[in-house]
Amino acid sequence: MKNIVIVGGGAGGLELATYLGNNLGKKQRANVVLVDRNQTHLWKPLLHEVATGVLDSETDAVSYRAHAHNHYFNFEQGSITRIDRTNKYVELAPVTGQEGDVLVVARRIPYDYLVIAIGSKSNDFNTKGVAENCIFLDSPNQALRFQHKMLELFLKFSENNALEEIGEDDSKQRLVQDGKVNIAIVGGGATGVELSAELFNAAQHLSSYGYGKIQSGHLQVTLIEAGDRILPALPERISSSVQQELENLGVTVKTGTMITEATEKCLITKEGEEINADLMVWAAGIRVSAITQQFDGLEVNRINQLNVKNTLQTTVDDSIFAIGDCAFLLQKDGKPVPPRGQAANQMATICGQNIVALFNNKPLKDFHYFDKGSLVSLSKFTALGNITTGKRSSLTIEGRLARLAYISLYRLHQQKLHGCFKTGLIILIGRLNRFIRPSLKLH
Ligand SMILES: Cc1cc2nc3c(=O)[nH]c(=O)nc-3n(C[C@H](O)[C@H](O)[C@H](O)COP(=O)(O)OP(=O)(O)OC[C@H]3O[C@@H](n4cnc5c(N)ncnc54)[C@H](O)[C@@H]3O)c2cc1C
Repeated sequence: MKNIVIVGGGAGGLELATYLGNNLGKKQRANVVLVDRNQTHLWKPLLHEVATGVLDSETDAVSYRAHAHNHYFNFEQGSITRIDRTNKYVELAPVTGQEGDVLVVARRIPYDYLVIAIGSKSNDFNTKGVAENCIFLDSPNQALRFQHKMLELFLKFSENNALEEIGEDDSKQRLVQDGKVNIAIVGGGATGVELSAELFNAAQHLSSYGYGKIQSGHLQVTLIEAGDRILPALPERISSSVQQELENLGVTVKTGTMITEATEKCLITKEGEEINADLMVWAAGIRVSAITQQFDGLEVNRINQLNVKNTLQTTVDDSIFAIGDCAFLLQKDGKPVPPRGQAANQMATICGQNIVALFNNKPLKDFHYFDKGSLVSLSKFTALGNITTGKRSSLTIEGRLARLAYISLYRLHQQKLHGCFKTGLIILIGRLNRFIRPSLKLH
């Protein structure tokens, strides 16, 4: 039996493993193995909601082991370190426990077909001090770290204000500068924009959960973008409407502002301006882990994406595919396929069909990216963006309809993983949870 190994169980990899498990694994035509460094999958576009506590990552996370059991594939926890293309195996680093003890030793997993789907992470462009002082939103752990720091800041602010009011101990200075909780976000893409809005939603909820002194007015969010407008991937009129909505909420939007350094207390711009912040998030640009440079001669570009052909096979090895953010493919118009959830979903579909075609000695299909549009959710306040209606036409939508279209991308992902019935049940449980649980995760 042939071995199909998929490394990375994200938006693309998990859908692919599910499809191949249901098609080839179930009929015992292939041994499908999914490798991921984590034990659970959480859809990445939800991370800004995890960061503000609006979403409890435990509720929406999918256990790889349970999912593998239900969909006829195997799961191996581990981080890929190397590929040997001559002997056709991937090498995984040892899995260590919380105390650093080795739980599972380094292993070699043989493959006949290999798919790399390890996604991407934020690109700090080697900016001084960013890695040490800013939080990235690339994984659930990082999002949770942000949430804990945010809650600590709000608690500090809330309690400190209380001390001032009862006039206790004059020497106690307000711990949070300017009488506001200052949060600075670098990167005016969807992540930065959505997180900015979500923070105001969180502040509103916190005031009703015992952080009594917190009002939206106590929150100072600065969104910093190096380009001349936020959301450069969207039409100009949408990005200016979004900027207006953010400013109405109270966000300070600074475009044309390049950050050259981050310190413990502030971000420093190219012009030397210091933007003070208690919490700093870096969400500008993407790059792929440099591990791809160890992939036995596979071609990579300057941000370590693997070069692929239209069939999604890597340019130098037909038995290795790459999909999602870690794949680099130019479209007919000369632009690369964008690093987005919908591109990862579409690539997973074509890659799955192509691997099945290889089993059936059928010709492979070319991948063509279809941009369904771009939507931005400004938390509960509004959503807006455009959806593609024809080859050259698109429709701008806003409000409830846009929110529905925005959520549908995640529902589609869930449907590919769990099927219609189970997705329906998950939606129902989500609704019920709204009555049972607080609207914000508070720990
Ligand atoms: C906060 C945020 C909001 C976003 N919002 C949107 C949005 O609204 N719409 C949209 O279209 N896109 C959005 N995106 C982008 C979208 O999430 C990505 O394009 C998509 O997740 C890419 O899918 P992928 O399968 O390539 O990688 P991922 O979904 O990132 O999955 C990669 C997987 O590989 C695993 N992995 C990584 N390295 C290794 C290794 N060395 N060994 C083993 N496993 C490894 C990871 O654990 C992960 O499970 C957002 C991204 C972020 C961060």
